[in-house]
Amino acid sequence: MKNTFLLSIALLFATLLISSSCNNQTKSKDADKKALPFDVATMDTSVKPWEDFDAYANGNWKKNNPIPSTENSWGSFNILDKETREVKIKGIVNELLTVADPKKGSEAQLITGYYRSYLDTVTISKLGISPIEPLSEKIVATKSLDELIATSGELAKLGISVPCEVGVGADDRNSTMNAVFMGQGGLSLGDRNYYENKDSSMIKVRAEFIKHVDKMFSMAGWSITEPGKTILDFETRIALVQLKNFEMRDPVKIYNKIPFSELSKLAPAINWITFYQNFGLKADTVIVQDKNYLKNLSQLVSETPLDVMKTYYRWHLLINFSNLLPTQFSRETFHFFSTVMYGVKEQRPREERAIISVNNRLGMPLGKIFAAKYFPESSKQKVTQMIENVRSVYRDRIDNLSWMSAPTKIKAKEKLAAFTWKIGYPDTWKDYSTIDIQPDKLIQNSMNITMWDHNDMISKAGKPVDKKEWGMSPQTINAYNNPTSNEIVFPAAILQPPFFNPEADDAINYGGIIAVIGHEITHGFDDQGAQYDGTGNLHNWWSPEDAKNFAALGTKLEKYFSSIEVSKGFKIDGKLTLGENIADLGGLTLGYYALEKSMEGKKRPDPIDGFSPEQRFFLGWAQVWRDNMTRESLISQVQTDPHSPAHWRINGALPLLKEFGDAFGSKNSAADSLRIVIW
Ligand SMILES: [Zn+2]
Repeated sequence: MKNTFLLSIALLFATLLISSSCNNQTKSKDADKKALPFDVATMDTSVKPWEDFDAYANGNWKKNNPIPSTENSWGSFNILDKETREVKIKGIVNELLTVADPKKGSEAQLITGYYRSYLDTVTISKLGISPIEPLSEKIVATKSLDELIATSGELAKLGISVPCEVGVGADDRNSTMNAVFMGQGGLSLGDRNYYENKDSSMIKVRAEFIKHVDKMFSMAGWSITEPGKTILDFETRIALVQLKNFEMRDPVKIYNKIPFSELSKLAPAINWITFYQNFGLKADTVIVQDKNYLKNLSQLVSETPLDVMKTYYRWHLLINFSNLLPTQFSRETFHFFSTVMYGVKEQRPREERAIISVNNRLGMPLGKIFAAKYFPESSKQKVTQMIENVRSVYRDRIDNLSWMSAPTKIKAKEKLAAFTWKIGYPDTWKDYSTIDIQPDKLIQNSMNITMWDHNDMISKAGKPVDKKEWGMSPQTINAYNNPTSNEIVFPAAILQPPFFNPEADDAINYGGIIAVIGHEITHGFDDQGAQYDGTGNLHNWWSPEDAKNFAALGTKLEKYFSSIEVSKGFKIDGKLTLGENIADLGGLTLGYYALEKSMEGKKRPDPIDGFSPEQRFFLGWAQVWRDNMTRESLISQVQTDPHSPAHWRINGALPLLKEFGDAFGSKNSAADSLRIVIW
């Protein structure tokens, strides 16, 4: 929903395993049943595996696991996330609630204080919108564009979305040092596609958005004529001068380092000095995503009546806190941002939302307890071994690539040898004890947490990068590759079934966690990652001929995925998903050959449930990606998300692999022409 540009600075350029656009999960029926490595009862063997492998492997599971009313999608990730939250995270919170009078600033005090404030609906309702009124009044009182821009710096500091979002992260061309970045933002609907797509479903979303804004303004008691239309019109004009999402995948294009003083030449209508002052950041140079955007935005702002701009900032103030305001606001926000946009029918109970909110806002203090309680040190060694196995398979594959020349192969292997990893949880924890949390001040608590995060971020500007820092909490079911550190990161929570099951046969784990590891390593060599060298610098290590061959293979993959229609009128965007699709192909290939290598010189394992290790490898992959999804969610995903929808991470990727055809005796005569081998 929100532009992830500022979601987490450590993740500024990281590539994730999945995105989490609409975090919706409910209770699994099988929460306390021991997980079978792979349950054949989930299959539908009436389907031919080479015709629809997702249906073959997961058909019965999909039939028996409809999307719960509180969710937008339902699959392995959601179920594991739900279980982790309901059993482990909720367990931690409940235990902390029994601590009498916890020390101010301790994890127990922060977590329980925030949790209690979220559940204190009496106070929330009594306060109404008063906690945000002073900021709203401040916006209303501004008398000039300069004053309003200055105020918007304060808003941005509190996490409120503005057209130019500022962050601090590793400088792509000097990756041991932090730099200041400025990129596009400020769209309620998140992505330009939502403003310009002519499909009837998108027209409907925009019409509903107008109604939603009108309703929210009226509930806030802010009387303005047609705020919905005003906001949609203004945001559409911003959207149309922003880069398209796939354009932002080009790290060279979006790296434009300029002296701070040049900002006022590019965008003279905006007073950058007061904006940065009020944001609390001093910068001599700024790396901007797109100079043209700044020019166009300046023009747009100078042509827009001040009252329209005020309405725009008040709106973003309101939606930033809407879930923390009295029930009618969070219900209306749910109606638009979950039901209209993602097809979710029912809002989760408040207690569940409170756990999600505390986990989102205080993920690291909570994660410190989570890691100590739920992450066995032995897992670290196991995963380290797995990573080394995958690295060694990758090295062999690079040696044998037919499309790459010997000098570039040496460079590729240098990069491969240089990557590092993090597993489980951070070695050191930051000090959160200065965050002021009160059991009856939800919005103030939220602002205090944002201010802590903000101060932490700006304190890094111009300083060396802390390579030990984590961009995800340990309890997150995900993984990422950070190209400026040349590292891959696996939080504790992804090392659980069905990704990693210590009780499972090897083949299932190779199709699960090992393929995930392979996926993350391959991100270092996808269309984006391959532009960074082994030290994490954006620096071309390719010979022109090899770069051309690599790009041609990418174009082939892009065309293949772009031809896939996921729902009437909506196709996968092959350009936007190229990196993820390369990583999936790489992950599958590396996982498969790591499995083969592990069986070398040994007696072949007996089939399990009639399936060979190779077949179970692909069943393991399909198990990870099984998923039922609402149409709204699917449409949102193909327009905004760099990952192909789960169904196509199975059915799109597998037919490209000769190894899959061999394992299941593909009868598809066209299959050979489909083969794409990149890594
Ligand atoms: Zn990925």
